[in-house]
Amino acid sequence: MYEFVGTAVASANAELLTKKDLVETIVSQINETKFEWFDSILANNIGPRPYDLVSNTEAAEFIADEFNSTGSIYATYQWFTYADKKIANVIGTLPSADLSNQSKIVVGAHFDTVSNSPGVDDDGSGTALLLEVARVLSRCRFGCIVEFVAFNAEENGLWGSKHYVQQALQSGEDILLMINIDMCIWDNPSAPPNEKLWLVYDGTVPYKDCERFADSILETGHTYVTAPIQKISNTNDTYVSVENWQNSDQASFWSMGILAFWIFEFNGFQNPYIHSSADSMDVESYNFTLGTEAARVVAATVAKLATPLIADFVPPALWIISPGVGYKVESSNLTVTWIGSDADSGIGRYEVKLDEGAWINVGNKTSYNLTGLDDGSHIVYVKAVDKVGNSVEHSVNFAVSTTIFPPVWIVITALVPASVVSVVVVYFLRKKRPPIPTTL
Ligand SMILES: [Zn+2]
Repeated sequence: MYEFVGTAVASANAELLTKKDLVETIVSQINETKFEWFDSILANNIGPRPYDLVSNTEAAEFIADEFNSTGSIYATYQWFTYADKKIANVIGTLPSADLSNQSKIVVGAHFDTVSNSPGVDDDGSGTALLLEVARVLSRCRFGCIVEFVAFNAEENGLWGSKHYVQQALQSGEDILLMINIDMCIWDNPSAPPNEKLWLVYDGTVPYKDCERFADSILETGHTYVTAPIQKISNTNDTYVSVENWQNSDQASFWSMGILAFWIFEFNGFQNPYIHSSADSMDVESYNFTLGTEAARVVAATVAKLATPLIADFVPPALWIISPGVGYKVESSNLTVTWIGSDADSGIGRYEVKLDEGAWINVGNKTSYNLTGLDDGSHIVYVKAVDKVGNSVEHSVNFAVSTTIFPPVWIVITALVPASVVSVVVVYFLRKKRPPIPTTL
């Protein structure tokens, strides 16, 4: 697996870009406000979301909507049955820009909670991190697939991740690496300042070079983020007995021999709030800056390994050329024209919309004929979307008047002065008429 990542790097068009700059750009886009917002939606708006409540489905739909709203990550539900109930993992896939490389990097977190807990830390924090990293990485194109997986029924025994791994192995998928995030915001007061986060690796399989790979993730984390993260092996029994390292979704990957890591707050086993109603936004020692740093480590790690080909965070520029604002047209047809440009990834498509109608994809065309326009005022909208999904929208209003006979007030205002003028003209013409000769 380690070697395969090397192949992915080699297959990329690396000479076209300064990779370090791209990774820095990507990391800089991770936003703490967005991260905290995602967590608050899950914890406050949706609330406790165990596998058997309707709120679990609401959370799945929220996650799928967020993936789809990027315009470049597509969401699928991976259904399975647990305890006679049909439930789903939510998978967000960012396709590989290199069609010859369909290997995957997987980022995962569980979105379910125990029955009475809002789960701000466990694992709203990991799910929020997943959504924020997905939002940012959706603006990039990579040399392999990046998959964002929100697992279900983790709290009942890692059922979602077990199902995911089983399906992946059955269909022969090539998972290069998996990073699980479960609890990343508790600022444990007993943590050393440089070890508020743990990168848990599988120390039981030295032949897979897991520790060396953990070192490379830490180096990435420390280079791009200066995050307070240190590695710890799942054979370490200083804090807990080793079975406890199996208590989150990375264990489903470890058990199948897949290179996997767990990002975890320092000894989160001591967190007094989790698995209760106290795991809420009110906990003072919940530190969203810490979770944001964890998100930056994950984004930097994925960006570095997956070979970024494009990173474009700037929407296109767009100008509507015609009609001009307030334009009046005397026909039921009107041609709309515009100019667009996009420096980083290029224009992907344009869309046009009239009034409250649906958006019409017009591809790369820079004009569109509106036909059958009704009389009255209208608004035409033009949207430019770049190749990674950033978009900009402009609109202009115009009026249509196709009536053959002018309205009554125009007739009156035109006729009154005209009749006055004609009366005056006739009067003067008559006045100036030479006298009629009396004799011939
Ligand atoms: Zn958890």
